[in-house]
Amino acid sequence: MPRPLRIVIVGAGVSGSGVAAGLVRAGAAGGFSAEVELVDPRPSFGAGLTYAAGGDPRHRVNVPSVRMASVTGRTAAEGGEEDFHRWCLERGVLEADPAGWADGLHYPARSVFGRYLDERLRALFAAAGPVRVTHRRDRAVAARRLESAQGTGFVVELAGGRVLEADALVLCTGNPRPELPGVLAGLAGHRRVVADPRAPGALDPIGRTDRVLIVGTGLTMADAVSTLIGRGHRGPLTALSRHGLVPRSRPVGHAESWTDFAADPPAADQSVRVRDLLRRVRAAVADAGRQGRPWTDVLESLRLQNAALWAALSIDERRRFQRHLRPWWDAHRFQAAPQVARLVASTQADGRLTLLAGRLVAASADDHPSGGGDGAGALWVVHRPRGGETLVGRTYDALVNCTGAGHGASFRRNPVLTTLAGQGLIRPDPLGMGVEVDGRHRALDAGGRPVSTLFVVGPATRGSLGEVVGASEIVPHALAVAEALAAS
Ligand SMILES: Cc1cc2nc3c(=O)[nH]c(=O)nc-3n(C[C@H](O)[C@H](O)[C@H](O)COP(=O)(O)OP(=O)(O)OC[C@H]3O[C@@H](n4cnc5c(N)ncnc54)[C@H](O)[C@@H]3O)c2cc1C
Repeated sequence: MPRPLRIVIVGAGVSGSGVAAGLVRAGAAGGFSAEVELVDPRPSFGAGLTYAAGGDPRHRVNVPSVRMASVTGRTAAEGGEEDFHRWCLERGVLEADPAGWADGLHYPARSVFGRYLDERLRALFAAAGPVRVTHRRDRAVAARRLESAQGTGFVVELAGGRVLEADALVLCTGNPRPELPGVLAGLAGHRRVVADPRAPGALDPIGRTDRVLIVGTGLTMADAVSTLIGRGHRGPLTALSRHGLVPRSRPVGHAESWTDFAADPPAADQSVRVRDLLRRVRAAVADAGRQGRPWTDVLESLRLQNAALWAALSIDERRRFQRHLRPWWDAHRFQAAPQVARLVASTQADGRLTLLAGRLVAASADDHPSGGGDGAGALWVVHRPRGGETLVGRTYDALVNCTGAGHGASFRRNPVLTTLAGQGLIRPDPLGMGVEVDGRHRALDAGGRPVSTLFVVGPATRGSLGEVVGASEIVPHALAVAEALAAS
């Protein structure tokens, strides 16, 4: 009888817990046994950063309860679909949260989705079977290669001193903390500069009447506006990004895939061109409109086909997409729950929120600690409006950094990635969005060769695999890695 496979998964958010859930199910199906160590200092399974307990209840999932993904790996036939909605009904979540209703659907708080994931996953992991999952509530601080008689594995060191040996290592480190944009680096540590708005109580130092600059206009900005307005903020809010685009509202109907963008691929030696793709998308939207269908059907096609489309783009075309189209894609793809979108629109309409399109140029603070003050004084921020030449300088009392996850810095800031990269076992993808992987989620080493027992799942793979950000996109990736491990 072969000994069980030892698998260490770093990160127990949707990605890491999704892999563990897939392994448990593979074990239950027979022929596979494993000891899985799920490493994460957070107390719960599945919630990770996004759906953690204690988050502001105004921060809602952007997909209605009936359509949120099931991370346990249950298929639709097994009742995997609508599982979250059923759980909400059983727990009385919908009645307890009337503000969650919009257009006949319910958008629960993200922390509620986290509770659901934790409960379902805890039950799955507790069941006896050939795959045992152990939660190591600790931070992984280093990983290195282990050469042994059994083959090539890994050693993972935890902050508490424990050392784990693994035949296979799966990196699911998720969304790194946001980085302050370079122009704002000099304001780091200022009491009224919120570098990471997702940290608990991050917005507390902001006064009710403060003039607040929010840098970034995506979903994190919408979260910040929801929290501030919900707390009775009366001062002016200004949100700035390159294009000033805000997330679209989640549409009422269920989007249905409309066009096959992956059909008619270019010759094998040619890349799809982003410009041509954009032209086809525009034509498809016009075509859908003529037939009385919403633009979101076209977007749904792109969402479902994004992996194939991304794979068909050369690195230069991917860069072009990042530079010119990413803000448009993000605003349309990462939609806000309707009540959140309405709040952003109404605060804009009544003048409490001003949206600016432009680039940050400079920032300073009179009494920043580096200048000897208490770090609570006014901030001076200069931006160049989009398409303009003149510079605009304004005074603010507080600044909130809503530029999103700092993927670019993850190799520097996450010690597991740092140590693996130091040994040449992983490398950043060419766009600097995360860890480079092949089509089977195996990390590529410094020489571009896949490391057969080192997998990466989740947002860190999006430079290589396309959009792996929403829970519904992550779960199939997690299950694919679990299947590959079980087959090995
Ligand atoms: C603000 C925000 C809102 C979002 N809202 C939605 C939504 O409504 N719907 C949707 O589908 N998607 C949403 N997303 C997308 C979200 O990224 C995914 O749904 C999913 O939660 C990502 O899961 P993950 O496990 O990859 O990452 P994370 O949730 O970031 O989890 C990663 C985990 O890894 C752990 N970790 C990292 N490094 C180490 C280490 N060295 N040692 C131990 N543990 C480590 C962290 O503690 C963390 O728990 C949102 C994302 C953000 C940032």
